[in-house]
This record gives sequence, structure tokens and C-alpha cells, in this order.
Amino acid sequence: MPKKYHIHSKVTPLNLDYVFKFKIERGENCINCGKCTKVCIYEAHKRGKDGDTRKMADPNTVVCKNCFRCIQECPRGALEKSLDKDFLNIGGGYWKPDMFITLWKQAEDGKVPVTGAGYRGPFTGPGFDSMWTDMSEIVRPTRDGIHGREYISTSVELGRKLNHLTFDEKGKLLSKIHDTIDIPIPIIFDFPKENLSPNVKVALVRAAAELNTCIVLSADDIKADIKKYIKNIIPLISHKEIDKHQGLIKSVRFVALDYDEEILSTLPALQDKIKKINNVLTIIRIPATKSVEAIVSKLAQSGAEIIHVVADYRGQENNDSADQNRRLAKDIIRAVHLKLVEDRIRDEVTIIFSGGIAMAEHVPKAMLCGADLIAIDLPLLIALGARLYEEPEKIIVFPEGLEKIAVRTVMQRIINLMGAWHSQLLEVMGAMGIREARRLRGETGRAIFFEEIDNDTFGKLFKKRETANI
Ligand code: SF4
Ligand code: SF4
Repeated sequence: MPKKYHIHSKVTPLNLDYVFKFKIERGENCINCGKCTKVCIYEAHKRGKDGDTRKMADPNTVVCKNCFRCIQECPRGALEKSLDKDFLNIGGGYWKPDMFITLWKQAEDGKVPVTGAGYRGPFTGPGFDSMWTDMSEIVRPTRDGIHGREYISTSVELGRKLNHLTFDEKGKLLSKIHDTIDIPIPIIFDFPKENLSPNVKVALVRAAAELNTCIVLSADDIKADIKKYIKNIIPLISHKEIDKHQGLIKSVRFVALDYDEEILSTLPALQDKIKKINNVLTIIRIPATKSVEAIVSKLAQSGAEIIHVVADYRGQENNDSADQNRRLAKDIIRAVHLKLVEDRIRDEVTIIFSGGIAMAEHVPKAMLCGADLIAIDLPLLIALGARLYEEPEKIIVFPEGLEKIAVRTVMQRIINLMGAWHSQLLEVMGAMGIREARRLRGETGRAIFFEEIDNDTFGKLFKKRETANI
């Protein structure tokens, strides 16, 4: 049995101001009896208002875990919890406020947050929310990948693969086997476009190295302070700059080329040129536009090894127009996957998808739709306390003081976040009875799509009525 991949999480609070779902307040009718100091095991209630130990200090919302015990036990009904306005304003239509709290908590201890008392949210919605995974294997008594009784591999293989082998009449292998690289988790870090402070940049790179995955960085951002981790860095360059970056290409395992139309006709020559410098794998990074599946297929047929399809931060097609019908991540990935299947080239190329991957559950969902692995950026920043506002335009606000936090702390929070996501991936795979992450890819038979069951159940009925009305 291969060595088990384990992510070492460690409780790592970040003592910076952050949003909280509920704020707790003490009313005027408090009689300073101190009962709440005894019932709150998290020490949210303390005496000492203005240095006077006879009076209760303001409650500490930061440590409150929303158990509501103090509220129930206060003899005067003096404590009140209410939704925080800051919390309600954060994010937007895609990045829901609860996502921020979840990512923040995952980064704090690497555990899967339990929201308790059953799921009270909607059962369908746009994008990934309209898809469910088939967890019918959850009843199997041996299902226990997460606790180690069964081995579940989350590793994926990147690179060009053969869909068949050719032998000569003497049985000698004629096919050239391409080089591939395994990473132990189907997640890489995407190049954050935001202006990161040096400690955050170094911490992201070190976390990628620690997790044995990779981070995409603009070649110009790769400075001496992170060169030590170069094997875990994927430099992003223009195909016109291959000569300029020869030295860098010699030291890495992957290189990412920003797509432009010229690449379509010159890809084999470009890959040859790169291979002559160093035997690295080439990733073509392409925006998820309307016709992306057709371009991806052409690239795959020209010999592309890895293609990275990039949607916008809400998982929508990149389209400058105000088109309301932009496809979402789920449909973009499915379209790319199905086009490659139709063109009989799916198994030969690796597809990375990024954009709108906000929660751990989006990883297996994106893979079920057809991605081999995914790339994330914003969840990494939210784990560090960044606030994102979607309206009126995308804004990211970093918490004050983040630039002074030790690299080790920032790094550990990223590791914790990935630890929580890895645990959830194992849970989903275990419940689905899938033992290898690579087998998730395109396995839509193990997913349920709301649109499809809605159509199967009511489609005929409504179609008949529509016909009858004509
Ligand atoms: S239990 Fe209620 S009344 Fe007593 S100190 Fe706490 S808030 Fe005040
Ligand atoms: S709700 Fe629970 S955790 Fe929060 S302050 Fe009250 S007792 Fe403490």
C-alpha cells in the first residue's frame, strides 16, 4: 500500500479583526451577577468594565461559538445575539457570507466546521448548487477512508497520456511514453492577481511546497526569497518570452503559457523549444470564453499536455459583454470534457479548472464534471482574513496588520485550509465508494443534476401542456 498522504493541521488563530456572523451584546438590564462567566467555557464573558471588577465587561464576540447557553441561562434575559451588519454585507450573489466564516474556521484548525441541527439551506441553486453527489456507498460498514481503514488516494497525474500502446510484430513497444508528474492532492494554487505583502507571498509558496503541490506565479514575481521552493512553482510566461526565461525553465517542473491565438498554430514547435531547454511539462492557460471547448480540443489535438481553463472569480465565462447567459463553472467544465470525449482525445490531456472554486465540495463536483484537478486563489486569501465584496465591483480588502504576521503562521493557516478540504474530499470519495481521485473525473453517472431530474420528472408533463395550449 502506498504511503498515506497526510496534511498536518495545527490550531493557528489569527489575531486580526474579522467578520462574525452574530454579535453578542449585553443589555442595560444586566445585574452583574456573573452567571454568564461561569456558563461560557470560551470565556466570552469577563468582569472588569473600565477596570471595575463589580461590572461586566463587553462580551468578546471573537471567542463566542454561538452555543447560546449564556443567553438561555441569564436570569435577566440581558444577553442578545443578532446578525452582524458587516457579515451581511460581505461577498455577494456568489460568495455568500457563510462561505467566509467557513473558510476562516477551516484555516484556524484544519477541521470541517459543523453547523449543527441539519441543513437548513436551499436544495438547489445556480452552478455547483444544482448538483449533488451520489453517496449511496455511505452505508457500507467498511467505508472509512478518512480514518485509514481503507486506502483512498487523492493523487492525480499531470501530463500527456496515451490512450493506447503500439507494439511491433516482435512485441516491442513502439509508443513513446510521455513524462507525467503526480501530485498528492487535486488542488494547485493559482496565481493571485492581488498585490500580496511579501510574507503572504512567501507563505503561499511554502505552503504549496509543504503540501507537495504547486503554485502558479507570474515569472516576474519569482524572486530570490522563494527560489528555494522552485520545484513547487509554475512560472506563468508569454510564449514570446521563452528565450528570456530559459534560466527559470531549467529549474522548474512545469511552465505555464498564457494562451493567445498564435499558440494554436505553433504549439508543437513551442513545446519542442521548451523541452530542449528542460524536460518540463507545459500548461496552456486559457480564459473560459464562449468557444473555449473548441479551442481546448484543437490544443489537445495539437499535442497539448495540460490545459488550464480559467473562469472568472464567480465561476462564470469570461466575457466582456454584459451577457446574462454566461455559463457557470459546472457547465463550462462539462462542455470542455464532453467535447474532448466526442473528439476522442479526453484521456490524453490533463484539464485544470479554476474560477469560482469557493468551497471544499466544489473540488469533487468540478472533477465529476470533467476536470482532472482544480486551481484556487481567493479561498487562500479569505483564509487569511481577506474580505471580498462583489458589488458594485470586485474589491478585496486585506485585514490591517496581515503584513506583519509571521510567515509560519500564514503558511500553517493555508495548510489547515487544505487539510480541511482534503478531509472532505476523502469523505465524499469514501461515501461514493471511489478509491482514487482520478476516477472522479467525468464520472457524471455518480452525480445528480437538478436540471436533469427536474426535466425527467416534470419535463414531459409541461411539454404536453405547452403543446396542448398551442
Ligand atoms: S448572567 Fe445576565 S445578568 Fe448576570 S452578569 Fe451575565 S448578562 Fe448580566
Ligand atoms: S453563546 Fe455560548 S460561546 Fe457565545 S458567549 Fe454565550 S455561552 Fe459563550
